[in-house]
Amino acid sequence: MTSAAYLSRAGQKVLLIEKNRECGGLVNSFTRDGFHFDAGVRALEDAGIIFPMLKDLGIHLDVVKSKVSLGIEKEILHIDDLNSLTKYRDLLKKTFPESEGEIDEVIKKIRTVMKHMDVLYGIENPVFKDLKHDRAFILKKLLPWLPRFIFTVGKINRMNMPVEEYLTTVVKNSSLRDIIAQHFFKNTPTFFALSYFSLYLDYFYPKGGVGKLPEALKNKILESGGEIMTETKVIEVMADKCLVKDHNNIIYHYDNLIWAADLKTLYKVTGTEGLLPKIKTLFEESKNMILKNRGGDSVFSLFLGLDEPPESFRKIAHGHFFYTPSKIGLGETHRSELDYLLANFDNLKKDQVLAWLDKFTRLNTYEISIPGLKDPELVPQGKTGIIISFLAEYDLFNKIQKAGWLDEFILELENRVLQIISDSVYPMLKDKIIVRFSFTPLSIENRVGSSEGAITGWSFQKNMPVINKIQYSDRSVLTPVPSIYKAGQWAYSPAGVPMSILTGKLAADKAMKQNRRLRNS
Ligand SMILES: Cc1cc2nc3c(=O)[nH]c(=O)nc-3n(C[C@H](O)[C@H](O)[C@H](O)COP(=O)(O)OP(=O)(O)OC[C@H]3O[C@@H](n4cnc5c(N)ncnc54)[C@H](O)[C@@H]3O)c2cc1C
Repeated sequence: MTSAAYLSRAGQKVLLIEKNRECGGLVNSFTRDGFHFDAGVRALEDAGIIFPMLKDLGIHLDVVKSKVSLGIEKEILHIDDLNSLTKYRDLLKKTFPESEGEIDEVIKKIRTVMKHMDVLYGIENPVFKDLKHDRAFILKKLLPWLPRFIFTVGKINRMNMPVEEYLTTVVKNSSLRDIIAQHFFKNTPTFFALSYFSLYLDYFYPKGGVGKLPEALKNKILESGGEIMTETKVIEVMADKCLVKDHNNIIYHYDNLIWAADLKTLYKVTGTEGLLPKIKTLFEESKNMILKNRGGDSVFSLFLGLDEPPESFRKIAHGHFFYTPSKIGLGETHRSELDYLLANFDNLKKDQVLAWLDKFTRLNTYEISIPGLKDPELVPQGKTGIIISFLAEYDLFNKIQKAGWLDEFILELENRVLQIISDSVYPMLKDKIIVRFSFTPLSIENRVGSSEGAITGWSFQKNMPVINKIQYSDRSVLTPVPSIYKAGQWAYSPAGVPMSILTGKLAADKAMKQNRRLRNS
């Protein structure tokens, strides 16, 4: 959508093709029985990208701060400003009094990372500035910032090891390690994981729900003369002829194609006959890498409409809440024990899977979002909508579906989550439910076509198939075929909404440059 907004604003002929009825993918809101819910991301982080993009496109979005709380067992901390890091340290020390020194060490590291983040996001991202005409920005902001940026990038790149590995070097207590890291994706680079404290302060929420962001972009695209075709799925790309085919076998010609969806799909549906042999070889090499790799962790979300006013919840925590009901930590539950479950799935009884599920739900960390606490307009009078989610393994849901008991498993999972959250932080929850449904990793795969139901692109591993260093982000949008660019969660790692937007803009810039080159040749 970012690409389409920029290209149509520049007067290019743009067609955006979207398989769903609504645009926005994992940035999306919907209403069920009067309750507003966010289907994907629960709140947005500016990251020096979203607000500059909106400003540059002349889009006004009404937003509020999306305040975050963190909780472990009975202790809950509200993150209001930078001083909250001290409160976080105290919370950890109260929970793990035997590990005071180790906690100090981790907090020191988080502080260092926060300083790097201040540099990284210290100015509006130059990609969204008109550098040809904004001399004041170049002289007063960009040039003084660049040396600090280069220095910081060096530091960041040295903090690339998985956060679990880093924590093992400073923290002996495995429960403490888990509590700090278990709500991150597996093997998240240390810098990215520890930067989350800064990101908690950065979260904002569009009034009316996160879906207001794609709605605003959609209006911008249409206003600028772009065309949008929804409920249209691309099923084939004929790269040599610059054609794409949709599910109705309708064919469209392009000069430049920006692929902002699942990257494995692009490589599977693209025919390269007729391309130059050199490009074909590069494409095949790239395809091998891409298809060999996996999407990152997915998520399970339980959506509830409750006959209970938002005020009851406001007294406990902010509307964006990371809560861990047990300080024991997941340990091997979501690693070797899950691997064992998956490897031996066909020989296990349902009871064994459910016993694992007991432990998994009891020890996990939950992301809880209450839209009505961020915008009171989003719930019926005196009622509250709540979304409870946690990272979940796509393969497990896939195997259970194939074994024919997915609905039963989902019910068991929902019941356990309800019991645990009612027994711990929101006692009023269980008896007040009037709306209840959930999304699994399989729902995510079906809805946005994302490999392994991934929500932020590639899983973190040694041989990342895309660019993963910020100084090379400009190249992340290139593919071996000169007229095809990539953007979004699969184009760069680590990804999320801001990076999806940034790559969208970078891809649009490259496409425009290519068009100018073609016109001039
Ligand atoms: C519960 C949850 C919490 C999250 N929290 C955060 C967070 O705190 N911070 C953060 O930055 N990110 C977060 N994310 C991730 C973030 O939402 C995504 O990484 C981001 O929105 C990805 O955007 P995208 O446009 O690249 O891809 P997608 O949202 O996957 O969009 C791809 C689009 O392409 C369409 N499409 C796919 N295949 C085809 C086809 N063949 N033809 C036509 N159209 C097609 C899809 O329907 C979809 O609209 C979260 C996600 C979830 C689900």
